[in-house]
Amino acid sequence: MDAPINPLLAPWDAPFGLPPFDLVRPEHFRPAFERGMREHREELARIATRHDAPTFDNTLAAFDASGRLLSRVEALFHNLAASATSDALQAVQREMAAPLAAHWSSVYMDAALFERVDALHAGRDSLGLGAEQRRLLERVHLDFVRAGARLRGGARQRYAQLMQRLAELTTTFAQNVLHDEASYALPLRGEADLAGLPDFLRAAAHQAARERGIGAGHAITLARSLIVPFLTFSPRRDLREQAWRAWVSRGEHAGAHDNRPIAREILALRREQAALHGHASYADYALADTMARSQAQVWALLDQVWVKAVPALARERDLLEAARRAHGAPDDALEPWDWRYWAEQVRRERYALDDAELKAYFPLPAMVEAAFDCARRLFGLRFTLRDDLGTYHGDARAYEVADADGRVVGLFLQDNFARAGKRSGAWMSALQWQHRNGFEAKPVVLNNNNFARGDGQSPTLLSLDDVRTLFHEFGHGLHGLLSDVGYERLSGTQVLRDFVELPSQLFEHWIDEPEVLKRHARHHRSGEPIPDTLIERVRAARRFGQAYESVRYSASALVDMAAHAATEPIDDIVAFEQRVLAERGAPVVAGLNHRLAHFQHLFSGSSYAAGYYVYLWAEVLDTDAYDAFVEAGDPFDAEVAQRVRRWIYSSGNSVEPGAAYEAFRGRAASIEPMLRERGLIDD
Ligand SMILES: [Zn+2]
Repeated sequence: MDAPINPLLAPWDAPFGLPPFDLVRPEHFRPAFERGMREHREELARIATRHDAPTFDNTLAAFDASGRLLSRVEALFHNLAASATSDALQAVQREMAAPLAAHWSSVYMDAALFERVDALHAGRDSLGLGAEQRRLLERVHLDFVRAGARLRGGARQRYAQLMQRLAELTTTFAQNVLHDEASYALPLRGEADLAGLPDFLRAAAHQAARERGIGAGHAITLARSLIVPFLTFSPRRDLREQAWRAWVSRGEHAGAHDNRPIAREILALRREQAALHGHASYADYALADTMARSQAQVWALLDQVWVKAVPALARERDLLEAARRAHGAPDDALEPWDWRYWAEQVRRERYALDDAELKAYFPLPAMVEAAFDCARRLFGLRFTLRDDLGTYHGDARAYEVADADGRVVGLFLQDNFARAGKRSGAWMSALQWQHRNGFEAKPVVLNNNNFARGDGQSPTLLSLDDVRTLFHEFGHGLHGLLSDVGYERLSGTQVLRDFVELPSQLFEHWIDEPEVLKRHARHHRSGEPIPDTLIERVRAARRFGQAYESVRYSASALVDMAAHAATEPIDDIVAFEQRVLAERGAPVVAGLNHRLAHFQHLFSGSSYAAGYYVYLWAEVLDTDAYDAFVEAGDPFDAEVAQRVRRWIYSSGNSVEPGAAYEAFRGRAASIEPMLRERGLIDD
């Protein structure tokens, strides 16, 4: 009898090379990873042991095209582990983290292979390479060097060990956060607990209780789409405090899922990794491969915002305190769990703006349509639902994407709802990157959001923040879909990480355009477009609350930088975090976006370590970039849109990012538009 076929190893012949989602089981992954790694090693050995001299084609292009079985299995696995995980998948994740890290280490430490890449790099001026080929050569060479290809002897062995141990630790860190989020729910019993909560939140809390099997009827979980509105609307200070404490202490519970020792060890290993590269700190090592290039640039940017945001926060706080006095609240200190609630009161009273009123105009399907429509008006793209294509979960919908002339560009999968087995947050990923190396690969791009689902009686309604998140991830999605490069390593979002948030944050600007709102934001019951007066009030209120966001964000970025710039061991990450914040005079009442024990950007992988600043860096670029449309007098100006497509959304990493930006804008970016947008300098 034939052995049963592993669907991961059979050809994937569905449209767009989609995986056979319905056939894949957790037990298929380990053998598929092992086969993928073996094939990859064999391909690389063939490149490394060639007898002829290295050329771009026989070494660089071949390297870029290698390991495709492994890549497709890894991409699928990471997507499932994030969006539709299970105990069995988590077990595979823990089991495979070290072997996969060892594999990738061995690829970039392969001496014979590096010798060929290094020889090409040394002679790069005389190879007659095109601009993109040269960029690929420089990029891949740097990948090798940064992964330790030049290390020798004991240092080499130690480096590989570090990479494996880091892979295990970052996997555990992410799973621990998931565990703490999955194991907490605040049951709401009866009207006394539900008082003040708008309908959409009651519906979402009801849905959450059902999914968690909680009898109470309603529950608040730590999903952002529940916890943030709960803190905003619930007048029950005691319940807000309970929920807040659970939210900010994720990862910080003694026992089997404690992230404090994990984060401490990750930081220590990263310091050692940096030292092997000759850097004094991990921040120095990480920043060497960014647009910022050095710590000094990052500190300067963060300082500039921090010194303005802290006094601005005090002014916001005065408004909150005044509201508390006017409402006869107890004459005690404003606590962190009070801030959002009182800010909402101020928003209502000062700007006559009520989140629940606003949400009625943002039903999810219309907002998805709005994002598609903006992409059509800017870039001529068309999105067609392909419900004939199976995906990994009923929530994930597939859209075929075509260009203005009908040419199929790629496939877009959007998975919008929070649910058990899906990690929190919002992100873009890919099952296939665009490239033309060997064959014409069409991108298959995913967006994940975590919106609270409507209860069936009312549709899913988004807050303005949710809509921004939807547009943000969609911007990343376009960066993947519009990619137009020759080589996979240079494709889509595989750019320097302080450039990667530019396409996403830039796209958020279109949802603030009154014209876009009038067209798409319609009341879910009456179908009436959002009134001008409400748009006006949104604009007026936009600056209010910016100081709170700026402080929370910058505080997290400062802690990230301090932790990774440290040249001494950090024994207690909680004490360290408190010390950094105290030294900076951080207002405790604002809190921070992420505390170290659940700071997934830093510890669920390495790509954002010493890199939380990148959102602010990219904001300097996106606010300056959007001004190009403002200057043209039309948010859909065809000529500006064409340039933004060419230099920002399509060029991937085929052009140096600073040069790409200047090609688009005709000059380098200025910081003023960002400061103005955040209300930190006057118009
Ligand atoms: Zn992003």
